[in-house]
Amino acid sequence: MKYVGAHISAAGGVENAPVNAHEIGAKAFAFFTKNQRQWVSPPLTRKSIDAFRENCEKYGFKPQQILPHDSYLINLGAPDPEGLGRSRHAFNDEMKRCEQLGLDRLNFHPGSHLERITEEQSLDLIAESVNIALSKSNGVTAVIENTAGQGTNLGYRFEHLRYIIDRIEDRSRVGVCIDTCHAFTSGYDLSTAEGFRKVFDEFERIVGFKYLRGMHLNESKKAFGTRVDRHDSLHKGELGDEAFGLIMNDPRFDGMPLILETPDETLWAEEIKYLYSQQR
Ligand SMILES: [Zn+2]
Ligand SMILES: [Zn+2]
Repeated sequence: MKYVGAHISAAGGVENAPVNAHEIGAKAFAFFTKNQRQWVSPPLTRKSIDAFRENCEKYGFKPQQILPHDSYLINLGAPDPEGLGRSRHAFNDEMKRCEQLGLDRLNFHPGSHLERITEEQSLDLIAESVNIALSKSNGVTAVIENTAGQGTNLGYRFEHLRYIIDRIEDRSRVGVCIDTCHAFTSGYDLSTAEGFRKVFDEFERIVGFKYLRGMHLNESKKAFGTRVDRHDSLHKGELGDEAFGLIMNDPRFDGMPLILETPDETLWAEEIKYLYSQQR
């Protein structure tokens, strides 16, 4: 079973996300559990939590179809103690929010070394941050996303994801999410059937499909290997259609949220329909 959806607005309250997802024909959704541009947000209210759970039930969204995304401000590999402390505090809070909403996973970007520490030192801090978050929460898996490797962002190699996983104490609660745009611009050429096979063979060898908890289905405005993170709508970017058809017909991507983070939300309903139409 494929669960395709999009990163949906939760404006007005998290309880609106499943409603908005249902309206565009989504069978999965991503959302922010708080304002993603602020460090501190008021706690979720009982009313909002209950309404979220009711709406998920009503529209048939189970935890495995939902991939909340953390705030872009958080840097779990931050070199400075102040930035790191603030990020850890915010991330722990987001894990708690997911727990309150009855969700089982939280997607995050690993972090950035900001050229003040080495990649390895920053990856060590990220792993330590995740261990702290897992020790302070229950039932929520921390889902590491691969990145385009823009600036000093880590997570642009499968080896980075593996490095973090290897340092997690409770590996039953760590997972990964692969973003097709990020993979492509970071140097994984999944644009052809042959390239796709090689990339996901490598993924299996280095990380393992058993850790895969979701996918981000994005086209890329930028060319292969540019290490720039600019999503595009389907059919419009440099990656091409083939990878998306291959994903839709590959059982290794069953049973998890497959999320569009494409820039034009008026196209989401059509893009979801298109992806399902590619199933043979
Ligand atoms: Zn993404
Ligand atoms: Zn991106």
